[in-house]
Amino acid sequence: LLRETSSDLVTYRFESLDRPDLTHAVYTRYGGTSRGALATLNVGGNVGDEPSALAENHRRIYAYLGIPAERVVTARQVHGNKVTPVTLSHAGSCLDATDGLVTQETNLALLLRFADCQPILLYDPVNHCLGLLHAGWQGIALGIARRGVEIMKASFGSRPEDLLAGLGPAIGPCCYVVGDNVAAAMGYALPDWSQVMTAVEGGWRLDLELANAQQLRAAGVTRIEHSGLCTSCHVEQFYSHRAEAGTTGRFAVAAFLRPRDHTARGLQAKAQEQESPLTPPTDLGSLNAPGLPALWEQAGDAE
Ligand SMILES: [Zn+2]
Repeated sequence: LLRETSSDLVTYRFESLDRPDLTHAVYTRYGGTSRGALATLNVGGNVGDEPSALAENHRRIYAYLGIPAERVVTARQVHGNKVTPVTLSHAGSCLDATDGLVTQETNLALLLRFADCQPILLYDPVNHCLGLLHAGWQGIALGIARRGVEIMKASFGSRPEDLLAGLGPAIGPCCYVVGDNVAAAMGYALPDWSQVMTAVEGGWRLDLELANAQQLRAAGVTRIEHSGLCTSCHVEQFYSHRAEAGTTGRFAVAAFLRPRDHTARGLQAKAQEQESPLTPPTDLGSLNAPGLPALWEQAGDAE
């Protein structure tokens, strides 16, 4: 993960997803206006925060992302496995009972909220489409990572082997001991539960990140970036439901696609994948014969 500080905001982003046609950010607690246990950049709407603090936090998040509030789609998360494809018709709305959003729409941001559950970003550089999932143990039990990959396949023609996945900050195995009910659910949901759970005094030590990685790999995704950041160990940076005994806020993860030329989209994306990303030359006018389209227009605009 790459860390960035901008005025008071501290954000992270995935190295493998750091590209000109995609904007994304894992926000932290830093840079907001919420107080007490919710300090400071809380985006949880049902945790007792002041409406004015919530509004200002969201304003700062959108300003940093560089997108207006009316171009953001979010969801009321319920630890389920519903993944919904969204378009401009959903812009500015909050979907009910949804834990995953996918889109092929440019300049339409997806935003979800976290405090120990794992954020999963999925990006398909060939079809230029995006997914954001909320995957705690209940989501894993319901196979939300697999479902996210399947919905991108069905909606946009994504091939799992093309997908880039980023696993964001979540509660780590260092801090996460669960009971037999959770362990049983993992046993059913995972190809190999023995790699992600160990029996300890009073329960099972669970590695959510490895569990999500297993489900992604089972769905055919091979390119997976791990954050390795534990929200509970780093409770000064992230909200942690467990470390703070339920009295805490939520941090945001948000992403949107930037426009690029859609003619010969697949070919160009493949070329970009294999070479360094193309950037438009600033002055090509002098190289063009009069009456012909600019060289850059012929090549297809990447931005
Ligand atoms: Zn930890």
